[in-house]
Amino acid sequence: MRAAPTVELAGLQVSGGHWIGGERVGSASTFDDVSPVDEQVVAQVASGGPEEAAAAVAAAEQAFPAWAATPPAERARLLHRVADLVDERREQLAMLETIDNGSLLRSHLRGVMPRVAHNFRFFADYLVHDLHHPDFETRGHVNHVTWDPSGVAVLITPWNAPLMLATWKVAPALAAGCTVVLKPAEWSPLTASVLADLTREAGIPDGVFNVVQGYGERVGDALTGHPDVSRISFTGSVPTARLIARSAAANLTPVSFELGGKSPFVVFADADLDSAVEHAVEQYDNAGQVCLAGVRLLVEERIRDEFLERFVARARQLRQGDPRDLATDIGPQISREHFERIDGYVQRALAEGAEAVIGGGPNTELGGLFYRPTLFTGAAPGSEILTEEVFGPVLTLQTFASEDEAVAMANGTMFGLAGVLFTGDPERARRVSAQLVAGTLWVNCFFVRDLRAPFGGSRRSGVGREGGTWSFDFYCDVKNTCTNQERWTV
Ligand code: ADP
Repeated sequence: MRAAPTVELAGLQVSGGHWIGGERVGSASTFDDVSPVDEQVVAQVASGGPEEAAAAVAAAEQAFPAWAATPPAERARLLHRVADLVDERREQLAMLETIDNGSLLRSHLRGVMPRVAHNFRFFADYLVHDLHHPDFETRGHVNHVTWDPSGVAVLITPWNAPLMLATWKVAPALAAGCTVVLKPAEWSPLTASVLADLTREAGIPDGVFNVVQGYGERVGDALTGHPDVSRISFTGSVPTARLIARSAAANLTPVSFELGGKSPFVVFADADLDSAVEHAVEQYDNAGQVCLAGVRLLVEERIRDEFLERFVARARQLRQGDPRDLATDIGPQISREHFERIDGYVQRALAEGAEAVIGGGPNTELGGLFYRPTLFTGAAPGSEILTEEVFGPVLTLQTFASEDEAVAMANGTMFGLAGVLFTGDPERARRVSAQLVAGTLWVNCFFVRDLRAPFGGSRRSGVGREGGTWSFDFYCDVKNTCTNQERWTV
């Protein structure tokens, strides 16, 4: 067992070790953490396996009874304290995340890190103010409903929005009274490690929050198949979800899955075209590495040329470059492996006859992991570029002639995560929205998120919903205690 290596990055001491039972722990081997900004190794991170998974679950199990019994107001106070510390380190965390996963510093500073803090505050307040315990009376009996924490929650998170997506699970799990083992993605392990330090500084007791680092197929698999785990929440790809479901099946561990998408972005001729174009170009955000992006532009035939002309003009203004530069709009892809995967999709689409109106390959001027924002027209119906998740800066444009055709095309994949609809007609908006299969629809807007609202996917895009009461309930064993009020003897 090697000591846990620590490195100074973005003004923070960042441990590459696990965080188990309130201690930094190393592993027999480490892996290189590579920054997408310049493909340089920035940290050595412990590569956990079954042993570390078992140790983390044991630590979480040991800490569970006391944490579950901690009064809600005290749990909420500690979560608020974590939020305060996130706010205090906002700039360092933002820079660390940018170095680690290549997404924009500008986004982290303005939106993401404040949102990370908000995740903790929201669920702390939910616990104290919004969790209602209704009593139902039945002929002299009272049904009293309680939300009991279920035990040890294993949280497995992806690399595209590491701290944001981790805390969106960590906060409700801890608020509910569960103890947590977080396994961040191996391509972006660092902010989760710092979060462990912040929870200690906030006074969260040892073992309540644990972080295990390593490859999904080793340590992730050991965690999801562990018999003492009460909940598994996962955000990631469909193939990995299948493996986790199989692993969880051995113990019938309940799972919550937020998976991929191939969401439609539907523009009717009666829409505010300026707004539609502006939001369509936003689908390149985070270099297209966003599960909910509306990557299939479906545009009414008679405005196709005008839409395309405006879209291309606007997309050409996007600045691609160093994500630490606040003027940059599009940064690099997460890793060489992922970059090649995206390029594979693009090259196959070109070979099949699709036309790249913009982009269509790596950004050779910048080199590295920079891929040019791409828009395809003329893709063959049913081809993979129209049906599979690319998870890169690659959009397609197709046209439709009628509302029915728009709906059929929008619903024409195995996914159902999100949808974007632009129309000036409220009746049409209602009609079309009612027919679209998606966990979230944005009408004449995009990416407006409220923590109280549900988020998740239909079809292969997920199992269950997160957000507000949906997140909180998932981590609980909801219990009904039915008491005969007429049999008291004292
Ligand atoms: P991607 O393919 O985009 O990297 P994944 O769904 O594989 O997305 O990764 C999301 C998370 O799932 C990461 O934390 C990864 O380590 C984890 N993971 C990958 N494979 C497994 C597995 N077999 N069991 C548990 N977790 C896994």
